[in-house]
Amino acid sequence: MRSGEMHAARSHKGRAGPRHNGGVDLTDTIVAPITAPGGAVAAVRLSGPRSWSVASQVFAPWPETVVARSALFGRFRHGDDGLALPFAEGASYTGEQSVELSTHGSPASVRALLEACLQAGARTAEPGEFTYRAFMNGRIDLTQAEAVRDTVAALTEAQLKLANRQREGGLLEQVEAARSPIVRVLAMVEASTDFSEEVGEVDRGLAAALCGDAEEQIRAMLETQKRGRHVREGFTIALVGPPNAGKSSLFNAVLRRSRAIVSPHAGTTRDTLEELVEIDGLLCRFVDTAGLRETADEVETEGVRRSIQAMEEADQVWYVWDATLPWPGEEQLPRADLYVANKCDLARSDFGENVSALTGEGVDALLTHVPKGLGAGGLAPIAARHAAPLQQAREALARAQETFASGLPTDPASVDLRAALRHLGEVTGETATPDILERVFADFCIGK
Ligand code: GDP
Repeated sequence: MRSGEMHAARSHKGRAGPRHNGGVDLTDTIVAPITAPGGAVAAVRLSGPRSWSVASQVFAPWPETVVARSALFGRFRHGDDGLALPFAEGASYTGEQSVELSTHGSPASVRALLEACLQAGARTAEPGEFTYRAFMNGRIDLTQAEAVRDTVAALTEAQLKLANRQREGGLLEQVEAARSPIVRVLAMVEASTDFSEEVGEVDRGLAAALCGDAEEQIRAMLETQKRGRHVREGFTIALVGPPNAGKSSLFNAVLRRSRAIVSPHAGTTRDTLEELVEIDGLLCRFVDTAGLRETADEVETEGVRRSIQAMEEADQVWYVWDATLPWPGEEQLPRADLYVANKCDLARSDFGENVSALTGEGVDALLTHVPKGLGAGGLAPIAARHAAPLQQAREALARAQETFASGLPTDPASVDLRAALRHLGEVTGETATPDILERVFADFCIGK
């Protein structure tokens, strides 16, 4: 990995690991399947100092002299045949000596191969342990580890693009760009403290300007959070309007026009009816709400209350009305991003988009109102986890700037500058505490 190599020197070895890896020995040789069950071929990865030795006991012929990254064809101890691909320490996914073994994908064959590896001295990898080791060995930073997880979980083109960008170091580079002016100011402050006679007073104007540069970088990163959330968690569109306007019919027409996402994200079940679809590569959540109208009926009142809630939570609100009825006037309507005149097969309206949920006319044009290219261009968008430390770094920089502006001694600024660096380090993992690491790696599956 290009950017992994860039940061190969920064090792996290010797630091306490997350609890899910707590007590596990990172010098063990570990093994786990790295392919999902059900395929014709399955791959199993060994990683750790004894990988080649373990492989030599389960696979034959194993050569006297191993040529790294050169595939070997042979037979496994359990009788199946397949390939072994050895990697040398320092030039593998984890940074450790490692071997990828591929065999036929039947559950029996994979189980027998894993069993043979365990007997030869390997232990089963914890979920996420391969990536955790890559992080601990300085192959990747924490944002890249998160991106590995996101690449494997990507459902849409936009999610994949975003994950690829972050895995290649996009976010890491942005954090580094904010970091370097802070490091420079800190050096200035410390030099003036330690060698005041030689260096003299800190150039307060320059120090404040450098802090301002860093703060600006961080502010720009924080601004990407919403865009990142739209790509990662989906863009929500609520269909609202009076009963019988054709909201449910439109909901179904939209679903037929777009690619339905089979595997919904966890934790999205709500009381309103909703479906995930991919529109132009973006994960979209369409929410069909109950009608909006004044009613004395208790159950219906609850439905209206939920519709209003769905509107408040949505990224876009589409107000659907029946074009055979008179246009009520925008001032009478709730705030909406798009007004949809439905049933245009019966009557056309001068207001909003004419659509027929029945014939499908105008539905494709409606879908063009969903934003495009959220994952591309501009800064690599941050994820929810990055927001709090970035905000804290920004606040620390503001305090340092105040010190430079105040005319008071500049020594106290170094505390704030160090705090800013520490918070940036929480994003990249350099200064991440075990509980931050645990939270990140808890979402990983076996074999990642
Ligand atoms: P909702 O209460 O807003 O969800 O409305 P429905 O989707 O249940 O539709 C109400 C009625 O309008 C049903 O009888 C639908 O068949 C009819 N309908 C919906 N869309 C159209 C349309 O585009 N053209 C025509 N002619 N009828 C429609």
